[in-house]
Amino acid sequence: MVEVKKSALFTLPRMRFDYRERVVMSANFFPPTDPVSALMDVSLRPPAFSEFVGQEKVKERLLLMLEAARQRKDVLAHVLLSGPPGLGKTTLANLIAQAAGTQLHTTSGPQIEKAGDLAGILTNIQKGDILFIDEIHRLHPAIEEYLYPAMEDYRLDIIIDSGPSARSIQINLPRFTLVGATTRSGMLTAPLRSRFGLANRLDYYTREELAQIIERSAGLLDVPIEHSGALEIAARSRGTPRVANALLRWVRDYAQVRGSGTIDGPAADQALAMIEIDAQGLDEMDIRLLEVLIYKFHGGPVGLNSIAVAVGEDAATIEEVHEPYLIMQGFLMRSPRGRIALPLAYEKIGATPPLPDGKDIQGRLL
Ligand code: ADP
Repeated sequence: MVEVKKSALFTLPRMRFDYRERVVMSANFFPPTDPVSALMDVSLRPPAFSEFVGQEKVKERLLLMLEAARQRKDVLAHVLLSGPPGLGKTTLANLIAQAAGTQLHTTSGPQIEKAGDLAGILTNIQKGDILFIDEIHRLHPAIEEYLYPAMEDYRLDIIIDSGPSARSIQINLPRFTLVGATTRSGMLTAPLRSRFGLANRLDYYTREELAQIIERSAGLLDVPIEHSGALEIAARSRGTPRVANALLRWVRDYAQVRGSGTIDGPAADQALAMIEIDAQGLDEMDIRLLEVLIYKFHGGPVGLNSIAVAVGEDAATIEEVHEPYLIMQGFLMRSPRGRIALPLAYEKIGATPPLPDGKDIQGRLL
């Protein structure tokens, strides 16, 4: 018998990283996706493409695809969304389903443990429905093999029983659209990647775009905000809407208790200084990473795992959450031999950068 685990469909993703379990009120404002924060986030999620700020190219492509499918009365091609956490991948999956007028089914790579789990999900969807697989790069390779014919020919070939009585059965599936999300597009296998009709990479948001998101969220939360206050929060949001919304909630509390209730520039500045988020949005862990890289490993190159052990953080969290922003801001770079601190990193923590000959200012070899 095919073992079908329907519960895999609607249960919340299993917690993986430490940062997912931190609460919003802690000094670390990395995108929380734990159940409680996810629910808090729900009301701020844009309900229509018209309210989804930024990512113009991605939006334009998706809207075009949706229109073409609508004209042909066809189902949408499979879509891949990649980019750091909190940039809007899940939101876009919701918007695609809403615009296509179909049902969204949500699961994630690590939740699909057996072929039966996948069969359970796929046999419960209707024609045109959207299946959203978050963290698709974490799908088990054996499950990926089952997914290929499902994506290409809407067919599942399942082996049932084992040993001499093992036999393969074929299940025809309704035509569906897979929307895959990943923070690590480089970890997707080539065969899986090539089965997506459209691959989209989400970029960090500009300060103005984030300010717009913050003003919209403040409106929903019913908090008065000045543009200067929104810009101040935006500057420290690491280009990430989820971080912006989390910071906004904190600044709202601060303005309510210590200020006039209105979020203006000074209130936002004081509130964010209180939780030690600096003007560029770097938090305690980012600073620790830079300090360890410079003081302990002489600026690198040093491997990710050594850094992870030295700062006491999960290597994957460093790689997926902290590093992309530090790299984008020009604090460090990745090289084949490891991570290297750039001059901005030395400036940030007040250390002296090495001279071009590899010696420090006192002539000591670094
Ligand atoms: P991801 O799936 O990439 O981790 P989400 O789609 O869960 O990110 O987005 C996190 C939160 O950020 C959402 O709940 C939503 O409130 C907000 N958000 C993301 N992108 C946008 C956007 N472009 N405009 C407005 N809000 C956004």
